[in-house]
Amino acid sequence: MGAPTSAERQFDWFAAGLRYYGYNRFLRHKFGHRVQKVSVDAKFTCPNVDGTVATGGCTFCDNRSFSPSRRLPRQAIRDQIDEGIRQLKRRYHKVDHFLAYFQPATNTYAPVDRLRTVYEEALGHDRVVGLAIGTRPDCVPDDVLDLLSEIGARTYLSVEYGLQTIHNRSLDWMNRGHHYDAFLDAVARSRNRGFEICAHVMLGLPGETHECMMGTAREVARLGIDAVKIHNLYAVKDTSLAEQVARGEVSLMERDEYIATVVDFLELLPPTTLVERISGDAPADYFVGPSWCLDKPAVRLALEAEFARRDTWQGKCWTPVPV
Ligand code: SF4
Repeated sequence: MGAPTSAERQFDWFAAGLRYYGYNRFLRHKFGHRVQKVSVDAKFTCPNVDGTVATGGCTFCDNRSFSPSRRLPRQAIRDQIDEGIRQLKRRYHKVDHFLAYFQPATNTYAPVDRLRTVYEEALGHDRVVGLAIGTRPDCVPDDVLDLLSEIGARTYLSVEYGLQTIHNRSLDWMNRGHHYDAFLDAVARSRNRGFEICAHVMLGLPGETHECMMGTAREVARLGIDAVKIHNLYAVKDTSLAEQVARGEVSLMERDEYIATVVDFLELLPPTTLVERISGDAPADYFVGPSWCLDKPAVRLALEAEFARRDTWQGKCWTPVPV
């Protein structure tokens, strides 16, 4: 591994011989032990599905799952956490601490009183040590941010904004229902509120060149976003994207191209940015492609091999820029 700069030296992940700042490492340091996310479905919908912004949802999103049928039978948040922990324990025997992850749909899209009720129910579980809340950047009015600040003041909280890309043309293609300025606004209003800001990013969107994707990386770096989740564009059944792939209108990234692009992306991020995810997948019976996504260990190994081959690391090409 080549010599790190002085800024890189202060990060223990680099000193430990790692190539990027992985989330598990951060959580282990923060809590003193391993912590896993347990997914929670609070039965929210999305303004991009219910007609407030649009109907149909994002091109890649299986929003059938937001239909009323999803709400039956209704399982209490606490019961979902218990069940999720039972399942996680089969894989991670020694893990006893969890983040409740409000994952499906838009998890700040409800009146504040309802949000407070569901978040508190999760925090009331004795194994839950914090929350992660996935949402759209156009769904965090100030009263919601006030609630998130209040929660962030007493527990670990990560708010995950769906950025996907900074390019409005791509956001239009995916029927996102908002533009990049919504993300900038959400981040500006979320800063210094005592919770972590995470951005979801997608690589391999139709029409995006390598330089377009690096433009998104530079913006994530410039804005000083605390954490990123990165994955390639992939298709699941019964989505508009699956139809476009079947018709040959959209092609999905091959693994080697994706791996090279992720390494380029991470090189541009500050070494302090948490990398929560570097690939995505979905249940096999639900998945359309690309098939390589389903082998996550192989993706991780390929990523590590590419880092090593290039003798590079997160932050190698990062240049601090004033916001
Ligand atoms: S904003 Fe999220 S939940 Fe809503 S349609 Fe898009 S991907 Fe699905």
